[in-house]
Amino acid sequence: MIRLSPELLARHAAPSPRYTSYPTVTHWGEPPRARAWIEHLDAALRATPAGAAIYAHIPFCQSQCTFCGCHMRVLRNQALVTPYIDLLLAEHALYREHLGRSQLPLSQLYLGGGSPNFLPLGELDRLLDGLLNTATLQPGAELAVEADPRSTTDAQLALLRRHGFTRISLGVQDMDPRVQDIVNRSMAPGVLDHVTMRARELGFTSINYDLIHGLPLQTEESMRVTMETIARLMPDQISFYPYVHVPWIKPSQRRYTEADLPEGEDRRALYLLGREMLGALGYKEIGIDQFARGDDALAVAAREGRLHRNFMGYTPVTTRALIGLGVSAIGDAWTALAQGEKNQQRWELRVQAGELPLQRGHVLTEEDLLLRAHIHDLLTRHATRWSPAETGAPWRNAVLARLAPLGEDGLVDCRKDSVAVTVTGRAFLRSICAAFDLKLHPGG
Ligand code: SF4
Repeated sequence: MIRLSPELLARHAAPSPRYTSYPTVTHWGEPPRARAWIEHLDAALRATPAGAAIYAHIPFCQSQCTFCGCHMRVLRNQALVTPYIDLLLAEHALYREHLGRSQLPLSQLYLGGGSPNFLPLGELDRLLDGLLNTATLQPGAELAVEADPRSTTDAQLALLRRHGFTRISLGVQDMDPRVQDIVNRSMAPGVLDHVTMRARELGFTSINYDLIHGLPLQTEESMRVTMETIARLMPDQISFYPYVHVPWIKPSQRRYTEADLPEGEDRRALYLLGREMLGALGYKEIGIDQFARGDDALAVAAREGRLHRNFMGYTPVTTRALIGLGVSAIGDAWTALAQGEKNQQRWELRVQAGELPLQRGHVLTEEDLLLRAHIHDLLTRHATRWSPAETGAPWRNAVLARLAPLGEDGLVDCRKDSVAVTVTGRAFLRSICAAFDLKLHPGG
């Protein structure tokens, strides 16, 4: 992996979106009407033989990690899980009814949260039966789950494998006990080792660890502690996210103060150290915040130009129709985007009333679609080509002007009809994609 200088990082690593969609959620407004949304999804389903992706959101956790930006709630009473699963399956049935498909062709199922493994075994089994008995799995379909290793049981892992899950993403974040304590996420020694080994023995072929750089009390020493664990367990994939400090949106982040957070140069040094240590362990940087071992499915897909990116991150399976189920879940028909109600009570009432509970969204214009394709190509293939239709586009020169300083530093190679990300530029994909983001730069 190419070494980055702190100066280069300081010049080009301004905070930018992760581009799991374009436009990004902050630029959405009114959702499409239910009928129009279904038409977009139906067209997306017909456009690719791969079928649909389903994202099911399980918003429950056993405790609140103070850094967390997810849509979650701490639930003490597990009895409340059953009505939630009932409604999530009812929402799933609504989609199948509107789409006129009793069986959905399915290429990706992703359980996210919250902590999907908060579900008791019986409820997890019932949810998966409901989602999979009405699906026709397509060749190469990927079934993936997020899990909190502190509460993942052998029985849950076995159940997930029985239903065909092969990818598991474990929330690790940091292995230093001081950091774990201040973010309220202490993990007993040996827990991660046990879950990782057990998952491997059972046949999970892609084990991902989520790590965060920039957490309170994190130091180069604590980063080394975390990387020692990575070196010992060698998961197949690593998501290495930057911490985002927004205490006015996430009051739990007030448990610590700005003085506890690494800032500026210190923060950049943490990222550089972590990235370098991952490189030394043999991980490849395949995209925004994502690293994978050379033999992992994501790394292979990246090499073969098959990588896809959607709201769940990078995946080796390309789909165009993503159905989001559960409170706050996001759907994507490529030509339109929609998020479900974030307020659980409103989500429940609307599903009970037989409505698709859409709260906000965006229908893409021709211009949005062109830009979305560029951003997606840059994120997944590190290159994009201008189409003839864009030759006279008023914003093209503005995009090139924003790319110019990145080009001068050797991060992109802009030619007459194409833009390519250099190997060094891969660490700056956010900033490169932001140059194409006309919502961030209205007027050109
Ligand atoms: S980080 Fe994961 S386990 Fe912790 S509160 Fe957020 S969703 Fe729950």
